[in-house]
Amino acid sequence: MSNSLQSLRKQLDDVDQRLIKSLAERQRVVTEIAGLKANPELPLKDGAREREVLARVSRLASARGLDNYFVESLYRRILEHSVRCQAARQTDSNRELVVAYQGVEASYSHTAARSHFSPLPREVHFHGYRSFAAAIDAVIVSEADVAFLPIENSLTGSITETYDLLSRGNLHLIGEEVHRVEHCLLALTPVPLGLIRRIGSHSQALAQCSSFLESLPDCHIEIEEDTASAARLVVESGDLSRGAIASEEAAARYGLHVLKRNVANQKANYTRFVAIAREPKQADPRLPHKTSLLLTTAHEKGALARCLDALAEHGVNLTKLESRPSAQRPWQYLFYLDHEGGLHEKHVELALAELRKHAEAVRILGTYPRSGARSTDEKERITFLRPKTVASTESKTQPATPASTQSRSYRLASRAQRAEDTVIEIDGSHIGGDTPFVVIAGPCSVESREQITSCAHAVADAGGKLLRGGCFKPRTSTYDFQGLGFDGLTMLHETARAYRLAIVTEVLHPADVDAVAREADVLQIGARNMQNFALLKAVGKTQLPVLLKRGLMASIDEWLAAAEYIMAEGNSRVILCERGIRTFETATRNTLDLSAVPVLRERSHLPVIVDPSHAAGRREWVAPLARAARAVGAHGVMIEIHPKPDQALSDGAQSLDLDQFKALAHELASRARGHR
Ligand code: PEP
Ligand code: MN
Repeated sequence: MSNSLQSLRKQLDDVDQRLIKSLAERQRVVTEIAGLKANPELPLKDGAREREVLARVSRLASARGLDNYFVESLYRRILEHSVRCQAARQTDSNRELVVAYQGVEASYSHTAARSHFSPLPREVHFHGYRSFAAAIDAVIVSEADVAFLPIENSLTGSITETYDLLSRGNLHLIGEEVHRVEHCLLALTPVPLGLIRRIGSHSQALAQCSSFLESLPDCHIEIEEDTASAARLVVESGDLSRGAIASEEAAARYGLHVLKRNVANQKANYTRFVAIAREPKQADPRLPHKTSLLLTTAHEKGALARCLDALAEHGVNLTKLESRPSAQRPWQYLFYLDHEGGLHEKHVELALAELRKHAEAVRILGTYPRSGARSTDEKERITFLRPKTVASTESKTQPATPASTQSRSYRLASRAQRAEDTVIEIDGSHIGGDTPFVVIAGPCSVESREQITSCAHAVADAGGKLLRGGCFKPRTSTYDFQGLGFDGLTMLHETARAYRLAIVTEVLHPADVDAVAREADVLQIGARNMQNFALLKAVGKTQLPVLLKRGLMASIDEWLAAAEYIMAEGNSRVILCERGIRTFETATRNTLDLSAVPVLRERSHLPVIVDPSHAAGRREWVAPLARAARAVGAHGVMIEIHPKPDQALSDGAQSLDLDQFKALAHELASRARGHR
């Protein structure tokens, strides 16, 4: 190694030492503050103070020439950890804690347990057990203090074994953790995908990645005990052609290489874990709580309904109801209920007193802080607010226009089918109804890592949550740039992930839908494909929201009929995007039909957004059209941006540069606030 490299690395080591020293110092002060927060009058979490800290470090970072987005995201983690530590101190003792989980190190259970227990002020030891029952038994015989087990998955549903174990012994739920599962394909070295011949994982993980695995026809699939064991086997075999589906943490723990991220059929995959102990835990009333109950009802008509009514009457919101057969009494059932609110709350106390009158037996499994209750509240960070428009309320009282053909060509998309506006959730942000005005932005095409990174930075900086970028480009001329394809998609995915943005990207061919859906958060159907019915059906079979652009020559009802194709396949999450239509006018690239917005909002419950970029064709006209879109009641806009518009490989003339975008985003945010 050259001397200069060695000396620079030594400098880095010294800097790291100082950083860790500062973090330890910070942690000491956090702990002192935790002592003051024993006073129940003080809030555990102070949103205004957190925003102040973030703004200050962001300014300091900029002044030192650092990427302020990077520093802010580091600080979000630091603040989140501080709040969790302070909350844990309020109700936790200093004794060592032993946590039992099922599996081996770096399994999803282990990772989730570490994230749940790491803020505790005491030493925590994690022990892996072969089975769920063994982990529970360890708690019963006091070998461990807490068992940490998965109880439900957002794709595969309840984990019934955990429910059945809960009815055993006198155990208590003391916490929950919702953990995002991100399956990756791991291998010993960065070999091309085609060289992998055997892939092992837990049977559930393999099932959740079935469409990716089907795309590797020459590969042998092997079921292993759990995902992390599969990763370990790859290492032990030393076989370069062997792979495992497991988490990124497993890759880090076993020294494996991530060949491909996010290989699951569905992107949003969460597992909820529960912490189970011998004794209940004291509640801190400053945190939002949840309570879990186990009840049996008399074997008579309406018994369960009366129990549920008791909760509803007292305004207690049920979050989960699961029934399991009773082991003792054939054809009798145990009902597991989760509801919002803690036992320390008056309305919960009243509801449970009422419930007891109607149930045969009620056992309180536990009352505990809701998962995420201790993390930064995302809702506090919303920047774009949309004025309430009259369209949605008017439409409910006015008769449909006689010219409308809505009844025959579309039903699911129609207002008659659903009076309420549809609100679509995309990775924690919302579009539609009365939710804040959304700004989607990004380049026409993904061109390079630098270009997409600059755009992602600008979007995140402006408070945006959705990054657009075309990888498969529908170009009028076959000689024009056609997009970077799947390489571009990987770039887009990795960049969006780093900036915590969701991805909107176009899919051109039905055969590509599954592969694009694995990396995107919203699938875009371009104007030229609005009536490509095979493509509409294919995206209708996915679980992702679809952004459906209006065809160049399509009437509003033809457009809604196209939305119906997607919805009829079972996917009701369609966002309509007006992007200009062809008229005799040639001054603009297309004619932006803003009247489509109120018409659509009358005829349909679906969210409507506007793309002023493709309509205008010139960047000078994008801002006024975006303002107009907001004024007529659109739920958002989608805007093309580029760090160097004059060098863009597609649609440069209509792309805003990053400063222009910043100004527009800022204006949309501040003007909207004024209108509220
Ligand atoms: C795009 O959004 O990049 C695009 C190709 O738009 P349209 O389909 O509206 O032309
Ligand atoms: Mn474009």
